[in-house]
Amino acid sequence: MAGMIVAGNWKMNASKNTVTLLLNGLKQGEAKVANAELVVFPPFPYLAQVQMELSGTNIRIGVQNICAADKGAYTGEVSLAMAKEFGVSYALVGHSERRALYAESDAQVAAKYIATQAAQLTPILCVGETLEQREKGLTLSVVTTQIQAVIDAAGGASFTNAVIAYEPVWAIGTGLTATPQQAQEVHQAIRAHVASVAPQQAASLKILYGGSVTAASAEELFAQADIDGGLVGGASLQAESFLAIGQSAK
Ligand code: PEP
Repeated sequence: MAGMIVAGNWKMNASKNTVTLLLNGLKQGEAKVANAELVVFPPFPYLAQVQMELSGTNIRIGVQNICAADKGAYTGEVSLAMAKEFGVSYALVGHSERRALYAESDAQVAAKYIATQAAQLTPILCVGETLEQREKGLTLSVVTTQIQAVIDAAGGASFTNAVIAYEPVWAIGTGLTATPQQAQEVHQAIRAHVASVAPQQAASLKILYGGSVTAASAEELFAQADIDGGLVGGASLQAESFLAIGQSAK
């Protein structure tokens, strides 16, 4: 599919110095990435710095999490309106670390997805199975159930302005990557599931793969029919490896 997305989830890794170093590297190399939109997801305190340092580039900005409420008594939370003031285009919703460490439910994920679209930003809906679920043969049912929760709440037409990231939990931060065939099987099932309610949206839906993607694994993953780019954690923290993954988008 034309126009892949290569998104870098920095998680809770950054300092003012490393942000400048990384962004300088990305700015120097971005012209070499011809077939992918690059997006960085910094921790909130660095949004102003990232917006300033990326001005005049084509690199987009996303947030790793968002509050579904507009404003008010939500101690420690950040609203979509706040994020938008810093040029943010995307929000991750339902990352497995949020689901596992902060007990985010499918209902909360759906509320964040709806709020993100209402703010005219694009949600990247993250789904994926644990190793135990894969070993029990539950991969496709887990992933489609996670997506169905969003379809039930937001409707199939909402996928006009959304991205899905398939991230097997057992592959995130572990150095284990799904094989291109394993990933393609799930991506195809995700597209088919969305197509069952929204065929037009499914045809153009971008479905990213995430889980220990490196420059070495990206090319074969991105060559699969239903893989439209990557959500990259560890390898997005160095300009060289993130750009090399971006260059793997053909
Ligand atoms: C992620 O955080 O979404 C991710 C895929 O991380 P990593 O690439 O480090 O596995």
